[in-house]
Amino acid sequence: MRLLLVTPPMTQLNTPYPATAYLRGFLLQHAARLDLEVAQADPAIELFCALFSRAGLTALAERLAARFGGGGGKRARRAAAIDPSIEHFLAERDRYLATIDAVVRFLQGRDPSLALRIAGREWLPEGPRFAAIDLAMAAEPGADPLAWAFGELGIHDRAKYLASLYVDDLADVIGRGEDPHFGLSRYGEKLAASAPSFDGLAAALAAPPTLVDEQLAAITRRLLEQHQPDVLGLTVPFPGNVYGALRMAQAVRAAAPGTRIVIGGGYVNTELRGLRDPRLFDLVDYVTLDDGEAPLLALLEHLADPAKPLLRTFVRDGGEVAWRTTDALHDVPAALAGTPSYAGLPLDKYLSVVELLNPMHRLWSDGRWNKLTVAHGCYWKKCSFCDVTLDYIGRYDPVTADLLVDRIEAIVAETGQTGFHLVDEAAPPAGLRALAERLLARGVTITWWGNIRFEKTFTPSCASCWPAPAASRCRAGSRSPPIACWR
Ligand code: SF4
Repeated sequence: MRLLLVTPPMTQLNTPYPATAYLRGFLLQHAARLDLEVAQADPAIELFCALFSRAGLTALAERLAARFGGGGGKRARRAAAIDPSIEHFLAERDRYLATIDAVVRFLQGRDPSLALRIAGREWLPEGPRFAAIDLAMAAEPGADPLAWAFGELGIHDRAKYLASLYVDDLADVIGRGEDPHFGLSRYGEKLAASAPSFDGLAAALAAPPTLVDEQLAAITRRLLEQHQPDVLGLTVPFPGNVYGALRMAQAVRAAAPGTRIVIGGGYVNTELRGLRDPRLFDLVDYVTLDDGEAPLLALLEHLADPAKPLLRTFVRDGGEVAWRTTDALHDVPAALAGTPSYAGLPLDKYLSVVELLNPMHRLWSDGRWNKLTVAHGCYWKKCSFCDVTLDYIGRYDPVTADLLVDRIEAIVAETGQTGFHLVDEAAPPAGLRALAERLLARGVTITWWGNIRFEKTFTPSCASCWPAPAASRCRAGSRSPPIACWR
């Protein structure tokens, strides 16, 4: 049986979302017994690379010129009520086409020498996202408005920031001129966020495809051709992945109707617990809740032998949504979940972007971080605004420090990269300390950061005994100390 795990658009540009890596790592332990091939792909980064390319921007410019009467600076300017970012793009079309591939290569870290040219601010077209810099220059003629952030020698970071603004301008053009659902880190988010019914999503999915939809459908068909999956697993961590997941499911239904489609992930776990609308099953076959490892393994065994039970899975039965589960199967202890495997993901395609001049925000978008959890669930479980009854928060299951370091070494060997984002809801102080001590004892050098509750345990002396600069922040991005973990 062939299983393909994918993260639908969009999540982050700088690093893969880890769910498929976690599931692949777990399922590899069962591959021989089940005669299973487990592949993974990231259509989100593939979609970005397709849109933000010379070919992608050429197609975009043609559509916008037809729609807005543009095709050149003067004609574009004559068009009534045209958005400034679209007007600028059409007027500077040739410069965008000439620079886009090189800028993407630069942000992927493949052509650092381009930094000097970008930082010079004469090579890239500069749209509305650059206005704040120009305003600051106008307020203080002759001064460098970015000097406070980058100084005289921070050429590479300065170029990364300018190139990120350039990408943001283009994302605005796509979102305002071609596909209102499009964003760099989310796609169709408003359609799914706290949606009271499936109606909005169903209407959007029935609308004629945009350029973004067409590119995503083409990517989906390529993945089907390449992997020939019997089962497609769509992980949907956020509302901004739901529309992309269902657009992909549409393409799979059309091109490979025999492929079984299963959907799960953070959004599903919180928003679809009371699923009643059977229309979702026009596009998917199974909806699993909570940790994906055990339900997905149960599903694969069920597909091989229908007498075997499903675990925490919605199906459509007789036109109605039906819940299938069993007490005979249980979740997988964190110690037995395996080592996340990033094999198959295009690690050289992710982009490091700097959109905000804030060192804390930068951690989220700059650099490709391997993701790992110190424990399953939250050790604290006392915040009144948090749903601690959810399994992924309420079931605290720490991993021993030695096993964590084993996994870290395996991931570094596979990816060649030593940066780790510890993605616990709130990293446990005792677990972090034990991890740091084992890293020191075993001579393993990595850089890591994560989300914490501010605790008395995190003293300066404790932090200074850790082996690498461990940065902590609240997820809201506040530079002032947060008082609790933000989910
Ligand atoms: S908000 Fe964060 S720290 Fe608080 S109980 Fe939930 S996961 Fe734990």
